[in-house]
Amino acid sequence: MPFSSPFPDLVIPKCNLLEYLFPQGQTPSDTPIWIDAKDTNHHLTPRALLQWSKRLALGLDRLGSKPGEVVMIYTPNHIFVPVAYLGVVGSKRIFSGANPAYTVSEMGHQVSNTQAQVILVHPSLAKTAVTAARKAGLPDGRVFLFSDVPNASVEGLRDWREFLPSPEEADAYEFPHLTEKEATTTTATVNYSSGTTGLPKGVEVSHHNLVANLDQTIYMRYLKKPWDASTRPREVWLGFLPLYHAYGQLYTIAMAQKLQIPVYIMKQFQYEEFLRTIQTYKVTHLQVAPPIMVMMSKRPETAKYDLSSVTDILCGAAPLSKELQNEISKKLDCEILQGWGMTEVTCGAIHVPGGTIDDSGSVGQLDPNCECMLLDDDGNEVAPGAPGELYVRGPNVCIGYWRNPHATKESLSPDGWLKTGDVAVVRDGWFWIVDRKKELIKVNALQVAPAELEAVLLEFDPIADAAAVGITLDGQEWPRAYVHLKDEFKGKTTEEHIHAHMKEKVAKHKQLVGGIVFVDEVPKLQSGKIMRKVVKEWAKKDAESM
Ligand code: AMP
Repeated sequence: MPFSSPFPDLVIPKCNLLEYLFPQGQTPSDTPIWIDAKDTNHHLTPRALLQWSKRLALGLDRLGSKPGEVVMIYTPNHIFVPVAYLGVVGSKRIFSGANPAYTVSEMGHQVSNTQAQVILVHPSLAKTAVTAARKAGLPDGRVFLFSDVPNASVEGLRDWREFLPSPEEADAYEFPHLTEKEATTTTATVNYSSGTTGLPKGVEVSHHNLVANLDQTIYMRYLKKPWDASTRPREVWLGFLPLYHAYGQLYTIAMAQKLQIPVYIMKQFQYEEFLRTIQTYKVTHLQVAPPIMVMMSKRPETAKYDLSSVTDILCGAAPLSKELQNEISKKLDCEILQGWGMTEVTCGAIHVPGGTIDDSGSVGQLDPNCECMLLDDDGNEVAPGAPGELYVRGPNVCIGYWRNPHATKESLSPDGWLKTGDVAVVRDGWFWIVDRKKELIKVNALQVAPAELEAVLLEFDPIADAAAVGITLDGQEWPRAYVHLKDEFKGKTTEEHIHAHMKEKVAKHKQLVGGIVFVDEVPKLQSGKIMRKVVKEWAKKDAESM
């Protein structure tokens, strides 16, 4: 029997995300919400955000960009990223964020995979974007500079502000209305995830998925202290989570608008700057991933700053031990609330409700409107309290993988069950994530797909075969490769040669920091599939002796 959320179902609107965030008849406020952490005079209010978003939507119309087309955003965080997100999504186009650390080949993959028709790129990344776009067949004229300040032309590219209509013209623009059916079938975002197997794939998230996950997440956070803007203590957030990822998009853009919570946006994460920003603006709530908790525990700078304004911290995106959770909770005298999610459930599906004192390391309870099952290797439900692979169903489960019916079929059943690849146990309705069955490696809470590393390794001529897995050292996972060299390169090709190849091809978090091992053979099944369990065992043994 599937397990249902213990909370009553919410009635979730089926509409354009824009209509949900900016309800008809409500005048958007003039209070700054997205504030540059380095220069607080540089900010956007909801009114300004709406107007800029309308200008972008109308500007894209005039460029000939059509509804249903992908617009890619390739930039570090800044206060105008919410404009790109809402202008693109609200006008029935599709927002796809790329990691600013991407190399030309990674960016090229996402441009051709999404078939993006427009790229908005930060000037500092223009060269990579243009090279990637050309390789993917997208003309330079469809690549626009996109930063928070007007730019003179760089690399001969136009600034995005050049194709925008005037604010007055945009005021008359109406974001398209979506019927209930359209809200569930219209793709709003395509963020990248490797799912349970294979290469990174675009995850199609609908307008209704986003609205549902906002309602679910808000319900869980304010379960014990219901949201009431007039009586609640004022909250202040910090926007350092990357805005190309679902986690950052949901909180820093959409939820900040829905709840009208000011969020100080950090363009770049630097730990001491992060602490200083919390102290300066008296940040009350943080959304983090476990590496931040590790820094809070280990880095001496933590003690130099007054962090007493922080009342609670949400931690998700990767495993967090209860020891570390409790240590930070004590150190900062605040609630640490874990949550579990993945790009395929829009952002989150299991949360520890706000106001709960939890010291058990649980990731929480199932969000309203969600169901789940824990299955064994044969697809049978496990006994109560036993570990099993987590399957989730609910209004926040994505439509599928972008233009990839095969991968969609592998992960999503016709009746809506998503195979997560995570292994959980549940006791009295509370969940613990105890293992990961899928191929994914998480480095600093960012996804690294073994299949991608293997493909890049095989592009290097001396390599005959390779397998990549995660190795856990000091509680942190790193990519490690077992490499079989061609005979003629044995004794000649070194680890350094392979590191140099990887450096050119993939972003920093995908580098083989967990090491390279030369082997005589990569263990494979007759079908040619890598025997990952065997390779994982090798890595486990290696870790013990390191
Ligand atoms: P992403 O799609 O990048 O958000 O990554 C999703 C994956 O991150 C999940 O399938 C899990 O493997 C992992 N993950 C997310 N939240 C947690 C958590 N609270 N504890 C353990 N792993 C998590």
